[in-house]
Amino acid sequence: MGARSGAQYMERLAETRPAVRIQGEVLDGPVTEHPIFARLISSFAALYDMQLEPERVETMTYAEAGSSERYGSSFIVPRSHEDLVRRRESMKAWADYSLGTLGRTGDYLNCCVMALSEAQSWFSQADAAFAANIAAYYSRARAEDLLLTHTLISPQANRSQDAAQQQGGALTARIVAEDDNGVTIRGARMLATIGPIADELLVFPSTVLKGTPEDAPYSFAFAINCDAPGLRFICRESLDYGRSHFDHPLGSRFEEIDSVVVFDDVHVPFERCFMLGHPDLCNGFYTETTAAAHMTHQVATRTIAKTEAMVGIATLLTEAIGIDSFQHIQEDVAELIVTLEIVRGLVRAAEADAQPNGFGVLTPKMASLNACRNWFPKASQRFPQILRKFGASGLMALPTQADIEGEAHDDIERYLQSATLDGSDRVRLFRLAWDMSMSAFAGRQTLYEYFFFGDPVRMAGALVRGYDRDPYRARIEEFLQRPQ
Ligand SMILES: Cc1cc2nc3c(=O)[nH]c(=O)nc-3n(C[C@H](O)[C@H](O)[C@H](O)COP(=O)(O)OP(=O)(O)OC[C@H]3O[C@@H](n4cnc5c(N)ncnc54)[C@H](O)[C@@H]3O)c2cc1C
Repeated sequence: MGARSGAQYMERLAETRPAVRIQGEVLDGPVTEHPIFARLISSFAALYDMQLEPERVETMTYAEAGSSERYGSSFIVPRSHEDLVRRRESMKAWADYSLGTLGRTGDYLNCCVMALSEAQSWFSQADAAFAANIAAYYSRARAEDLLLTHTLISPQANRSQDAAQQQGGALTARIVAEDDNGVTIRGARMLATIGPIADELLVFPSTVLKGTPEDAPYSFAFAINCDAPGLRFICRESLDYGRSHFDHPLGSRFEEIDSVVVFDDVHVPFERCFMLGHPDLCNGFYTETTAAAHMTHQVATRTIAKTEAMVGIATLLTEAIGIDSFQHIQEDVAELIVTLEIVRGLVRAAEADAQPNGFGVLTPKMASLNACRNWFPKASQRFPQILRKFGASGLMALPTQADIEGEAHDDIERYLQSATLDGSDRVRLFRLAWDMSMSAFAGRQTLYEYFFFGDPVRMAGALVRGYDRDPYRARIEEFLQRPQ
């Protein structure tokens, strides 16, 4: 099939029956028919349609020599600088659609699976079958254009204990049995964003395993259908409140939903497994395969889209109410611009300094991307703060679409007009600023940017441990030895 349309995505989803628990409800029909998920599914369908639009299809899909089958560009195995640019341009088009607010567009994990499938010799250290399985999985994900999500971390019960210690080891998803055909998984994992509307779930290593025998049952990587028997998604409350796109411009379109995943004796066939046991290898799963670099390339590209959107909203908002010439307002707009240019610069540096990895895949420079993924989670915490400061009470003077179309129309047009906009257009703009800075959707975005790629504290530790500081240490030692 190759790169699919929105209709094809929805057709497949309509045939699956994931076990979903949400707001007290047990879903027993297709998720496509449930109002909580309908608008998110429409947004994902629009993304799939986008890649087939005549003016985008050349960038967003590719064909291999001698074949007319086209695949999504995030499946390209990059060998040249042009390949990296094409991957980025394709990822940027998807990110722009949601103003950078959708974190789990398919390209995020396509990047990961692409890199893993090329690292077959790494998987063979454990078992040649795992190498074959990950290669086959990449081929299938690409051919069927699967929408993947993943779940990595153990339940947040007691972070001073390892997975193997929590409730005697009975809390975190683990291998409880093995038979001739596969393994059985019992326990829970956090957190699967888009779980109910994805095709498949990647259950990949957590990065906090100790290389001890006790951690072996918690060490694995596999893929499973989202409606596999025994698999359950326990969702948080939806932040799509069913309001119009005018009232909730982001939440009504891009509410991704997050869910805890329960494995109630889920059987995983061996051909779906990419690693079983081997905690030491699991700890190097993302770095040694360079999957982390390719995933961060997508993440940084999305954050460019989000920061551009912030600059756009801030510009329109400050012009709307005539505050754009005040110095402290300009200082904050400058902060957004600086953030944007830093992320752009880091992505450009990563592409310019890309090198083939040990498996022949041209890989963006991780040091630049690592700087981005360590810094942006903190820098982006300022985004909602800046919009709140700019909007002030205007972020609360926000009648709804029903008011604009009803009795309050004349008052809104007269009293909510701004320096550049009539009343209803000003409300439309400010509702977007509110949904980017203050709504429940915005709150989740802020938390997402801070944590979704890992705890910044522990990422900083990993950066310090992995960064080659020897030349700088040596320079200072040499300096200290100069004649006094
Ligand atoms: C909106 C959202 C969506 C997400 N989506 C996904 C997803 O799709 N798939 C997925 O797998 N994961 C997802 N995540 C999970 C994400 O990977 C984790 O939030 C992140 O790894 C941090 O882990 P935690 O949330 O369990 O925090 P914890 O590890 O419980 O940390 C809580 C606090 O304690 C501190 N702390 C805990 N342990 C230590 C320690 N050993 N040393 C120092 N400080 C410590 C942390 O710094 C933090 O301040 C998502 C998270 C969010 C917020």
